[in-house]
Amino acid sequence: MSDKNIKSGKYEFKAEVKQLLNILVHSLYTNREIFLRELVSNASDALDKLRFESTKGSEIADKDIDHEIRITFDKDKKLLWIKDSGIGMTSEEIINNIGTIAKSGTADFLEQLSKNKEDANNIIGKFGVGFYSVFMVADKVEITSKSFKADEPAVKWVSDGLGSYELSEPEEEIKRGTTIQIHLKEDALEFADDYRLKNIVKTHSNFITFPIFVGDEKVNTVSALWREPKSSVKKEQYDEFYKFLTYDSEPPLKHLHVSVDAPIQFNALLYIPKKSYDFMGLSKEEYGLDLYVKRVLIQHRNKDLLPEYLGFVKGIVDSEDLPLNISRETLQENVIFSKISSSVTSQVYSALKKMAEDEIETFNEFWIEHSKFFKMGYGDFANREKYIELLRFNSSINEDSKGLVSLKAYTERMKSDQKEIYYKFGNSREAIELDPHLEIFKSKGIEVLYLFDPVDEFVMSTVAKYKDFDLVAVDQADLKNLEKLESVKEKKKEFEDLSDDDEKHLSSLLAKMKDVLGDRIKEVKVSERLESSPACLVNPETGMSASMQKIMKIMNKDVSVPQFILEVNKDHKLVRNMLKVFKADSNDNYIGQVVEQIYESALLLEGYLYDPYNLVNRINNHLEQSSDWYVGINKL
Ligand code: ADP
Ligand code: MG
Repeated sequence: MSDKNIKSGKYEFKAEVKQLLNILVHSLYTNREIFLRELVSNASDALDKLRFESTKGSEIADKDIDHEIRITFDKDKKLLWIKDSGIGMTSEEIINNIGTIAKSGTADFLEQLSKNKEDANNIIGKFGVGFYSVFMVADKVEITSKSFKADEPAVKWVSDGLGSYELSEPEEEIKRGTTIQIHLKEDALEFADDYRLKNIVKTHSNFITFPIFVGDEKVNTVSALWREPKSSVKKEQYDEFYKFLTYDSEPPLKHLHVSVDAPIQFNALLYIPKKSYDFMGLSKEEYGLDLYVKRVLIQHRNKDLLPEYLGFVKGIVDSEDLPLNISRETLQENVIFSKISSSVTSQVYSALKKMAEDEIETFNEFWIEHSKFFKMGYGDFANREKYIELLRFNSSINEDSKGLVSLKAYTERMKSDQKEIYYKFGNSREAIELDPHLEIFKSKGIEVLYLFDPVDEFVMSTVAKYKDFDLVAVDQADLKNLEKLESVKEKKKEFEDLSDDDEKHLSSLLAKMKDVLGDRIKEVKVSERLESSPACLVNPETGMSASMQKIMKIMNKDVSVPQFILEVNKDHKLVRNMLKVFKADSNDNYIGQVVEQIYESALLLEGYLYDPYNLVNRINNHLEQSSDWYVGINKL
């Protein structure tokens, strides 16, 4: 017996617990059976923790009792028990673990829960609040627990799940572990049933690695699926294990079963989910693989077996070659562990590569769902080559924004003299296609990759090269490299070449334009790249594409407009007419108005027009004037 005393008495639940209980008790009636999954999973965690303590060599109370989970019931008394011989809890642990919600993100969870009650059963376990689901079926719950630490007294916890709980010392002698006694609600008596309980365990807890008894019968499979030879495992079993592991209601997009024997032994069962976890606000903390050593769970969601950007992969890794008593803190420095982890990463890469080659549709599904994560791997230089091969982009050769091409496919289609791979970032395919910078690419028939996701900019500037080809933003392309390439379309010739005299006037006009815009631009010059637009803005050599520059500015909260070069299309009707006006009167106000308008429209396209007031005003004036002309020519 222990000489420590427990702090008996009545305790209030923390506010967020009350809130959660309120939702659980009053509004969740579908799929209530998951309370059992949650309690069994806690029992299994408790047994895992115990096993971990004993591998560390800790002193364990009641060392000889079997590691197991037992479910029993008494229909007449409306009672149900879930008992485990796991690590147990001290009174302090019970106060901290059951009376409060430790995890961050509880507020998010509560919000999700109140918005979408159907999803609640799927996400409840993931937020570390599984225990409370018992109050969906219980009027009253009694927990009796005895810690594995011999000198800690047993503790009893009782609550009706309304607002408070009571702690006391149990009268009877308790052995190590935890028993949850449930007083079933009137409308939950269905759970006091042998057949029903067995079914629930089989459905939700079949892969728990400790034996689960309902009455006297062992119900679960207990074998470690990842240790079985691949040939003996059916797709349904893989899917079932996946659902067990992730609580996902859909089967995975892909599974990967790996057994490696040399130089280091490990088995892994890895999955790519159909849906990204992002949408549940479950991204960062939730990633990681479960690490087992000799079938003993060492760590849930280990973050070092895979790089973070492959965090969409779920699953487990089990090795014979790591020491059982390895501590989580020293794992990272362990040479065997780092070999396993780089091997796991390569396995994921080869699986993705194979998928990209043999199952293009599945790969595209993967890309649409998980590329947001995956693309963050642009800084992983160790896997650079493999990473680059998997990148996909929308392209000018696609019919719509859904199409995806690889860099390899791009280079295979490339013109023989082309030395660079071109890309353009924009908010949408439509916006990109309106961009004047693209005109020369269209007339030369050069493929351009379309980037919609801001992270693509970082990907492109970090990757910088594919094979021998530089990745170049279209607004940074050196026109000399493009001019060499043959055109696919004859440049339409609407106007005669300018006479020498007119060329001189044009130079003066450009100088006038520069005067009007002043320091807002660096230079005005004749463009070689334009066809249907009168003008565009070009970045002076900064080594950064316009959109990259934009992202950097946003990050630095810098709202200044960069000093661009204004390029003018001298074979455009507007420019030719300006020249006429200019020749007649070089100080005509009209020129100033048009220049302002051209400049601001171009700024708008580049995403730099912060104040549209002047532009809108000017357009309205022009419309008003042109309406006179329209009425005139139509004799209205
Ligand atoms: P989670 O399991 O995600 O942590 P739960 O609400 O299911 O969230 O459980 C809260 C905590 O209560 C657990 O982390 C654990 O510390 C403790 N606990 C619950 N059930 C048991 C048990 N059977 N044995 C020991 N500790 C338990
Ligand atoms: Mg739990």
